[in-house]
Amino acid sequence: MRVGLGYDIHRLVPDRPLRLGGVAIPSPVGLTGHSDGDALLHAICDALLGAAALGDIGDHFPDTDPALAGADSARILAETLDKVRAAGFHLVNLDTTVLAQQPRLGPHKAAIRQRIAQLLGLDPGRVSVKAKSNNALDAVGQGLAIAAHAVVLVEKKRGARTRTTRRTRTIVQRTRSRE
Ligand SMILES: [Zn+2]
Repeated sequence: MRVGLGYDIHRLVPDRPLRLGGVAIPSPVGLTGHSDGDALLHAICDALLGAAALGDIGDHFPDTDPALAGADSARILAETLDKVRAAGFHLVNLDTTVLAQQPRLGPHKAAIRQRIAQLLGLDPGRVSVKAKSNNALDAVGQGLAIAAHAVVLVEKKRGARTRTTRRTRTIVQRTRSRE
């Protein structure tokens, strides 16, 4: 088992669509960023990369890459997941907290959780989405930004080669015990 931690924060500005956890949320303000500014999906990407010790989201998806301008962060998450799986890991569970003073996220938590579970190919029972305001304190509390934290647990997949080796060893032991 290995654990990964992710964090992200984006500035809120007027007249920009708000996307969080891959869900479009009705709001007069949205998150700025090189991509669609989905701070929650970015925090999840960093948690995944962290668990596999593969660096951070900026290493893999630099904000100077013109191909990523306005990109759907669901695509960034899918590519991140591919990298983590290619390194031999599968996900066990994910826990997240979104910090937002505005808009209120309570009514959207269930939809966000479902969407993240779908994007990660996980049972929703293994995905948690919590929301907090920052009690009117700091930039988040003043409605200037939305931040997100994510923690993920991953497990190393047992390789087919290892299983074959074990099976072969068992057969050899059985053969020997008969001799
Ligand atoms: Zn971000």
